Formats: sequence, structure tokens, C-alpha cells
Amino acid sequence: MRKLLIGLRTSIKLIALLAVSSIIILAIVLSIYKPIYAVTFNGEMYGYTDSKAEFQTKILNFMENGTEDNVAFVQIDGMPEYSLCFLKRGVETNDDEMYDKITSTGKTYYKFYAIAVDGEEKLYVSNFDDANSIVNQLKEKDSKNANKLSILEKYQDTKQDFTAVEVAVENLYEKKITEEIKSNMGRVTRAGNGGTTYKPISIAFQKPISATITSRFGSRWGTTHKGLDFGAPAGSAIHAAAEGTVTFSGWNSGGYGYLVIISHGNGVQTYYGHCSALLCNVGDYVYAGDTIAKVGNTGDSQGNHLHFEIRVNDVAYNPEYYL
Ligand SMILES: [Zn+2]
Repeated sequence: MRKLLIGLRTSIKLIALLAVSSIIILAIVLSIYKPIYAVTFNGEMYGYTDSKAEFQTKILNFMENGTEDNVAFVQIDGMPEYSLCFLKRGVETNDDEMYDKITSTGKTYYKFYAIAVDGEEKLYVSNFDDANSIVNQLKEKDSKNANKLSILEKYQDTKQDFTAVEVAVENLYEKKITEEIKSNMGRVTRAGNGGTTYKPISIAFQKPISATITSRFGSRWGTTHKGLDFGAPAGSAIHAAAEGTVTFSGWNSGGYGYLVIISHGNGVQTYYGHCSALLCNVGDYVYAGDTIAKVGNTGDSQGNHLHFEIRVNDVAYNPEYYL
């Protein structure tokens, strides 16, 4: 019994000694070496980090949010891999450098919204609330295209220019011609002014440009302004208002500057004046929405704008009633 007790005490002592010495050894080892994560990216050694979790969180955060507005996600070339190792103290970590290298491979995808008319994207806004507000305002104003509007969620690797809500509503609004307006139009005919009478034209025209009207049809500065002016920056695209054959594309010395005329049949023509560039030739058959010229300030013009006319048998009609 006593022998057994002595034996037990000895082995307890032995275990204690062993424990103490291993703690000492571990302390010595840890004073020389430390645990650290080696980071590799696509098989290439990038460096070291003390905190795998923190580094990984930073990378994931970048992939989720990027560094700009309207980011849907960022795709990077691979994922960093980590291996735990013990290295001599004094080995430098380089988290920032590795982060920059890894995130520089990122390809950003953006999320935003398009407003489409009849499925064709017309303009873009950064968030759904803006898109919704544009559609609702156009419905409230009873815009002619209210039933053709849709909101599309866009994911793209390029961002579009965004249009402010107010500007978008202004640009997309299309006046409805009601029977009441039609009958009023008939009454405003003025002698000597061949253009004020409303007369149905059996062609559906669309707006030749996404821009605001800056001058209307009718009497202006003692003469008759035979068209509608749309103010727009130089180079903005001008679209055919309806399909037809280009019957003129060139310089007009009567004040229109660079001018395009499209004939739509039955004596109906559209005029596009003051262009900076002509993108169609005489004889071309164009379709509604085709880009035919660019906005300019040529001829008898003050400032960049499109002068647009609708003529029937060479008599100018107020385009506002037909767009
Ligand atoms: Zn004009």
C-alpha cells in the first residue's frame, strides 16, 4: 500500500514536471515563431496575413459592394487560399498590398433600371423608386404612351448615364389628341397661315429626338415658324419620325443648314434641319427610329437644336399634334 502511494506521488510529480517543461518549450517556440497564414491567389504566393477571417471578410465585402454606386456585384479572378504555418517572428504581413492586387482583378457589374416604351429602352435611372415615379407621373398626366411603359431591371458591366426623374417625365411625355382638341384645332385656322389647321394624317409619327421643345409651331418674330424646335446638345441623335425614303440629304442654302427630308408617301414629308452631320443618303429607305443625322447649329440657327417639320403637299402642319 505504501509502495503504491509513493509510486503514485512520483508519477504525479513526473506529470507535473512534463507539463511545466512543455509549457516552457511552447513559450520558447512561440517567442521565436508565430502562427501566420500564407495567402495564395490562383496558385501564386501573394504574402502573409495575421488574420485570415478579417482579410477574407474584406475581400467578400468588396465583391458584394465594390467601390462605386449601383454595384450589383464584383467578380474577381479567383478566391484567395490560406494555409496556416509557423514562421519566425518578424515576417512582415502585407494585407493591404494583397488586397489591392486581388481586388484589381475585379470586374464590376452594375444594377440599375431602364424605362422602356414598347419594350425599347429609352432612358436609365439609378433606382427602382425613380423608375416607378416616372411611370406613375406619366400615367397621371395621361401620356399617350402610358400603357406601353415598362421598367426593366438591368445588370450590366457598363453603367449608363442616368436621367433625373423630372427630365425623364418631360422627355417621355406624349400628348394625347382627344376629340375635343381635334375640334379646337380645326377652329384656330388663320388666313394666310397654311399650317395651323389640324388635319388627320394617316401616318403614326414618333418623336424624332429625346429632347425638350424649345420653340413651337406658329407665329414667331413676325413670321411663321413652320416646325418644332427641340433643344439638344450638338451630336445628339436625330431619328426618322416614320418610315420612308430619303429625298434630300445635304446643304440647304435657304436657312435650314444641313437638312434631311424624308418622303412618307401621299405627299407627306418630314424635315430635319440645322444638323451637324448627315447619316443617310438620298434614296435610302429608313424606318421609324433610325438615326439619320446629328443635332447641330448650321444654317439660320442660334444654338444647337433640331428643327422638325411635317408637311403635306408642301404645307407645314403643327408637328405637336402628330407626335
Ligand atoms: Zn425651327
